[in-house]
Amino acid sequence: MLSFNKPFISGNEINYIQEVLNSGSLSGNGKFTKKCQKFFEDRYHFKKCFLTSSCTDALEMISLLINIEPGDEVIIPSYTFVSTANAFYIKNAKIIFADSKKENPNIDPHEIKKLITKKTKAIVVVHYAGIACDMDAILEIAAGQGIYVIEDAAHGIDSYYKKQPLGSIGHLGTLSFHETKNICSGEGGLLIINDERFLQRAEIISEKGTNRTAFFKGEIDKYGWVDAGSSFYPSEIIAAFLFAQLENLEKIQKKRKIIWEMYRNGLNKLHDSGKIFIPHLENCTTNNAHMFYFLCCDKEARKELLYYLKSNNIQATFHYQALHCSEFYISKFGSISLPNAEHYSEVLIRLPMYFELEFHQVEYVIKKIHDFYNKN
Ligand SMILES: *Cc1c(COP(=O)(O)O)cnc(C)c1O
Repeated sequence: MLSFNKPFISGNEINYIQEVLNSGSLSGNGKFTKKCQKFFEDRYHFKKCFLTSSCTDALEMISLLINIEPGDEVIIPSYTFVSTANAFYIKNAKIIFADSKKENPNIDPHEIKKLITKKTKAIVVVHYAGIACDMDAILEIAAGQGIYVIEDAAHGIDSYYKKQPLGSIGHLGTLSFHETKNICSGEGGLLIINDERFLQRAEIISEKGTNRTAFFKGEIDKYGWVDAGSSFYPSEIIAAFLFAQLENLEKIQKKRKIIWEMYRNGLNKLHDSGKIFIPHLENCTTNNAHMFYFLCCDKEARKELLYYLKSNNIQATFHYQALHCSEFYISKFGSISLPNAEHYSEVLIRLPMYFELEFHQVEYVIKKIHDFYNKN
């Protein structure tokens, strides 16, 4: 079976982990954690980064940082991973789902506008497949109203909106290093702080609500409990693994982009003849080849294509089930209709995409998709 995903392993992970084991210090916020954070601060000019145990954790840290209180409204795309919403739900925010755009699954600024109230505390955007949301329009809606803009850039590593790296545009941003992402550490994430107001509290929150970081910097002579907080740093073993990956970022990205282009060119005819729809990339965004997806004509066509590919040993897959359709959401907030998000839930299909995928395998996938549409 040609698998859908396979985590990239550079080979150096084990050496860096050995270095950590030899050092006798395994807990978080040590040498490799700092090296990873510095990598991001240097390469993307992020003001300050905090390595976390997951992107989910980074989002939960944000809900603490912006002081979510019961009843605060947070506008989120419905077509996303559950963590985007849960991080705010667990602090009793009212989750307000906005629909996706017609052109791609990103949140639609026109829909956001309709949902703003006096209680809106934050807008959380998700750059789906590493393709940037309409950030200028979204920042403009939030500006002057004291609304925070948060970027869930879990898919967005090394991708840009008008030359600005994803994650650097809102007040706060997050990345994911889950094994399904371009760069991985099994589980892992990053909190990106762009607004200096959050810096000091982020240090405290990430150190379980203590001023331990200030203590280690020699700014105070003892540390204690000063605020809410939790355990967000991953261990040095994870950070060591991640650093080996980061050293290979360019190599990984180059290969993934070649695969992405092969799919795009190989399936272009089916797009032109209207059998499938491959979203067009707008000029304001780059593509980090996190994912290759397209839309089938309807639910039935997707089901048959997935089945056909599976019977040809290709593991393709659908993606999110729009969160507003979940039983959990309906039981808490009631039924709503978001046609575009529902449509993506029904017709979107993702193809195998990972560093080790070989070109003849990509060609095989393309050929099988053509075979499917030629016989239908
Ligand atoms: C993967 C993902 C997450 C969660 O990332 P973890 O690191 O697994 O917690 C959150 N949001 C989106 C959009 C994702 O794709």
